[in-house]
Amino acid sequence: MVKAVFPGSFDPPTYGHLNIIERARTIFERVLVVVAVNRDKRYLFDADERMAFMQELVAPWPNVEVHRCDTLIVDFAREHACRVLLRGVRSVQDFSYEFELSILNKGVGPEIETVFMPTDQKFFVLRSSAIKELASFGGDVSAMVPPVVAKALERFREGSYSSS
Ligand code: ADP
Repeated sequence: MVKAVFPGSFDPPTYGHLNIIERARTIFERVLVVVAVNRDKRYLFDADERMAFMQELVAPWPNVEVHRCDTLIVDFAREHACRVLLRGVRSVQDFSYEFELSILNKGVGPEIETVFMPTDQKFFVLRSSAIKELASFGGDVSAMVPPVVAKALERFREGSYSSS
């Protein structure tokens, strides 16, 4: 029985992320979605908001949990007895970056295996950064992100949002 961690910024979560989680949860005993908190990165949504989105979105799936992590993901995986570090890949560009990352992670945690899952073709253009930009110009993102995220992006655009 294998447990997997699925780490990411999820700033914000998209249907692409959810598709990976939904497929992974039928393969692995448990999937631990890990919201990364990196002090050097600027996020649109803070860690609590990203956690809250994810918690709401994975609530229907009993074998999926949401955690946060501000340490090395390999250390997190080890502490939670997860053997697999799951990453979604959309493109060759993603793959070359993810491949290098997997080599680095293998160096610090040789017992943790990175597993790549290709995106579903419906979601291969979905990228959190592009979605934020589109939303900031009032573009319709309803096919890309769940309604709770679309509403939050809308509030942000209207300036009533109080994220740092
Ligand atoms: P990070 O900042 O770690 O890249 P992201 O939130 O951008 O975090 O992505 C988390 C994971 O989800 C990564 O493995 C990324 O490749 C994957 N991912 C992001 N968007 C998609 C998508 N549309 N389809 C499949 N996987 C995706």
